[in-house]
Amino acid sequence: MYDEGPSQEDRERFGGDEQGAYCPQCGAETWDDAEFCPACGDQIGGRTSSKPPVDRELQQRWIILVCVLVLLGFLWLIF
Ligand SMILES: [Zn+2]
Repeated sequence: MYDEGPSQEDRERFGGDEQGAYCPQCGAETWDDAEFCPACGDQIGGRTSSKPPVDRELQQRWIILVCVLVLLGFLWLIF
């Protein structure tokens, strides 16, 4: 059985609640108990993230920044 979409209760909760759920795959905003992501169609039943995707992007930027700094430090040691 496929989840055809959010129920009325889900819509109210989705619309009124600031803390939405997000697809762990693509970061699209969705509802808490969504079985499939409305954006990428990935099966996300029960695996939604409560953190907005912005946090993940910020974390990735930090990783890149650290990598660049390590690389610069490595180059500085050589020359
Ligand atoms: Zn998705």
